[in-house]
Amino acid sequence: MKTTLGIAFHGAARTVTGSRHLLTFGGRKLLFDCGLYQGRRDEADRINRTFRFDPAELDTVVISHAHIDHIGNLPSLVARGYAGPIHMTAATAELAAVLLADTAFLMQKDLEHVNKRRGGRPERKPLFTMADVEETLTRVVKHGYHEVFEPLPGVRARYDDAGHILGSAITTFEFAANGRTRRVCMGGDLGRPARPILRDPETPAAPEVLVLESTYGDRLHSDDDATVEGLVAIVNKTVARGGRVVVPAFAVGRTQELVAMLHPLIEAKRIPDVPIFVDSPMARNATAVFVHHPECFDEETFRAFHEEDGAPFGFRRLRYIGSPDESRALNDRKDPCIIISASGMCEGGRVLHHLQHALGNAKNTVLFVGYQGEGTLGRRLRDGAETVNVYGEPCTVRAEIAALDGFSAHADQRELLEWVGSFATPPRTIFLVHGDLAPAEVLAKLLRERTGATVHIPELGQEFDLWE
Ligand SMILES: [Zn+2]
Repeated sequence: MKTTLGIAFHGAARTVTGSRHLLTFGGRKLLFDCGLYQGRRDEADRINRTFRFDPAELDTVVISHAHIDHIGNLPSLVARGYAGPIHMTAATAELAAVLLADTAFLMQKDLEHVNKRRGGRPERKPLFTMADVEETLTRVVKHGYHEVFEPLPGVRARYDDAGHILGSAITTFEFAANGRTRRVCMGGDLGRPARPILRDPETPAAPEVLVLESTYGDRLHSDDDATVEGLVAIVNKTVARGGRVVVPAFAVGRTQELVAMLHPLIEAKRIPDVPIFVDSPMARNATAVFVHHPECFDEETFRAFHEEDGAPFGFRRLRYIGSPDESRALNDRKDPCIIISASGMCEGGRVLHHLQHALGNAKNTVLFVGYQGEGTLGRRLRDGAETVNVYGEPCTVRAEIAALDGFSAHADQRELLEWVGSFATPPRTIFLVHGDLAPAEVLAKLLRERTGATVHIPELGQEFDLWE
């Protein structure tokens, strides 16, 4: 039988969000990831409502990890007629339940807010509802790392640990074509070696075709010491001014990593013992997911679980904020504190009211610990905007704006090159996705030099035939 393989890039092409890649194996269609595109509201809404394929015609869906830019549009897919299974790792499944429900909730809140201001114009409709989320979760099929499963007849798939967030995976598809075994590796988002909590990214069997992220294709992260010293300086300076540190952060992973760094610094009295609030309705749930999946941890963290009664990385030091009233009450506090709140790119969620409250006061610091996509409020703040709109109202930025990139859960240029170099034989073809064009071009040049591979940076909607 003749097997053709095609790949089409329907998201995260020359940008970092909205991952959706369509693989076709001899006429059968497999969607890899179905993420939300995040950016300016109107543009994001249009992109997220547009599928360049018919969801009802997909045969299967395979997911790399639970970040919203990889799973966040699954409920739309289901609402628009996709009726098949959705494959993911067990930890991703548990996180997805928390995160998709949270996304539907935040969308509903945001919409109520927007619709109030639309005057006579027609009301906006939500992208999807909680009922769509519930329906989506019934389709989930869980897999362990290294387990081989068949998402399509004749196509074997296997997840290896990507070390990026809890449950994150590198996915390899293997199938026979013209008497030969072919492999395509979907790198997903690639983590970093030697980081706290998670295991290092694994190296799967060598693929001929690799789809690789390029978020930091042109950059090296600061080393750990510089990150720790930066954090010490920022916290001490802000506390000395009597201000608060507001950290826009995604509540899964980054929060735990940040606390894992703050906890020993407080113990060693290098920074004062100020309260740390994690203000996200889902943070407690997300932490519970962490506690349920010690199989994802590196050895050191796994040991800490047993030695510290299931409370590693200073979880006990955190104070979780549940209700909206408690959240607003944080604005009345006079003493210095650290507030970690989602969303990480300031595109919604409770961090917005913390920013509205904190930005106007020069005592405070807004600390970015994650990537800020183009067009997001986080990027405008990080780029030094003097005034920004929060909840549609202008807000003068007097607070200090700081950024530490050493927390990144994405491999930097050197780590990406080393990981590609760890395959037994180099890939023949590499597609770079999940990165703005400039970093992707820098990485593409280096990969061509070092591996001899043909490297493409696909445009949105571009399709390629891989084998006849
Ligand atoms: Zn990710």
